[in-house]
Amino acid sequence: MESCFIRDIAGEGVEVWGMFDVIIVGAGPAGSATATFLGRRGYRVLLVDKARFPREKVCGEFMSPEIPEVLDRLGALPAIREKKPWETQGIFISSYQKFHFKLDFSTYFPHREDTSTLGFNMPRFLFDEILFRNAQATGIETLEGFKVTDLIFQGDQICGVRGIHPTGDKLELRSRMVIGAGGRNCIVAKRLHLHRGYWWLKKVALMTYFKEVHDPRKYVEMYIHPPGYCGIAPLGEDRLNVSLVVDWGAIQNRRGDLRDYFLEGLFRNRLVREKLAGAQPEGHLKGVGPLAFKAKRCSWDGALLVGDSAGFIDPFTGEGIYHALRSGELAAEVVHEAFKAGNLSKEFLQSYDRTRIQEFRKKFRICHALQHILYRPWLANFVARSMARDSILKKWLIPWKPSED
Ligand SMILES: Cc1cc2nc3c(=O)[nH]c(=O)nc-3n(C[C@H](O)[C@H](O)[C@H](O)COP(=O)(O)OP(=O)(O)OC[C@H]3O[C@@H](n4cnc5c(N)ncnc54)[C@H](O)[C@@H]3O)c2cc1C
Repeated sequence: MESCFIRDIAGEGVEVWGMFDVIIVGAGPAGSATATFLGRRGYRVLLVDKARFPREKVCGEFMSPEIPEVLDRLGALPAIREKKPWETQGIFISSYQKFHFKLDFSTYFPHREDTSTLGFNMPRFLFDEILFRNAQATGIETLEGFKVTDLIFQGDQICGVRGIHPTGDKLELRSRMVIGAGGRNCIVAKRLHLHRGYWWLKKVALMTYFKEVHDPRKYVEMYIHPPGYCGIAPLGEDRLNVSLVVDWGAIQNRRGDLRDYFLEGLFRNRLVREKLAGAQPEGHLKGVGPLAFKAKRCSWDGALLVGDSAGFIDPFTGEGIYHALRSGELAAEVVHEAFKAGNLSKEFLQSYDRTRIQEFRKKFRICHALQHILYRPWLANFVARSMARDSILKKWLIPWKPSED
């Protein structure tokens, strides 16, 4: 990359690299998607990440049935299929061991004859790397192991980032726009003081893998039961991704290994006990939380937020990656319009906030509604029983917008 840009030595040992159109902070699904769509349009894009790919990510690793369409537009679907991800037929939801129902993708996407283009599960270790390499293939510049520590301003306008190069050097990278795609701790959102927590919603997720599984099944399974809910996603013939979402307060003051708490929480549910009988936990237990937060706005003078950096509520609906990819696509459109108009002000860029809300309004409402339903056994059971009977609720509580192909 050094060969492409003029490299100056500025004062105080800070190096300044040449000018980009757009710097994207974070190369998860949101950053890589934004980079691909902008790279294809010929913009000079720099995609940076503090990690090196492939890298791990705490996630349920379920890709919802809307994702393949975006992957197709990104040109990443063949590479994903080549890895033979675990195809899922739908979602199984069990409420307090009393009621359960299934949502079959084929019911909602009847036109898709090829089941491999419905939902699937895949380790993020593989998935995110494919998207990152796919972005690189458009000819953009990338920088791994680079941690962004601050933004550069000219007046109110953001015009680059500061960070630490893997060599330990401090660097300043200049651009006409910056996209915040750094996930829940995105430095762009934090520096602009845009993130807000939900006082009434403090949850944390614990996650690990199980091996030697006897019956992985073709459904992503969600078990609502104290101390929270558990998600199980098969990744192969004998491997599962297992996560448990609980109250932040329940683990906040616990010392030492949370593994016992995690296993005890899982096995309080008889159905989960039966499902995991004979299976063995594999690898470290990972955790993330508090889960829920929102961004006051997702546009600024010279900046936009995409993916999780724009907000996150809860992983129950398994919609985070779709939101990451699609918000990246929407942001790329708005960035293109802004460059064409020569207007990078927040007044112009706020059309992104409007489009994003329009597009995701229903999903956000479902996410909020679920937070009131999940932890009230009588309500969760009522909803589960109604869903099992094919009630009208099925129309309201399904987050997917079936394609019209
Ligand atoms: C427990 C749990 C389970 C989930 N399960 C699912 C699921 O099954 N399906 C689903 O669709 N969604 C799920 N989600 C949500 C999903 O993981 C996220 O929505 C998705 O990862 C968002 O992608 P992103 O690109 O916005 O952010 P991320 O994937 O978090 O990527 C952000 C990137 O930014 C980089 N970065 C951060 N800070 C800096 C910095 N300062 N400098 C440089 N780089 C930086 C990071 O290294 C990272 O690579 C789950 C979430 C949780 C917590």
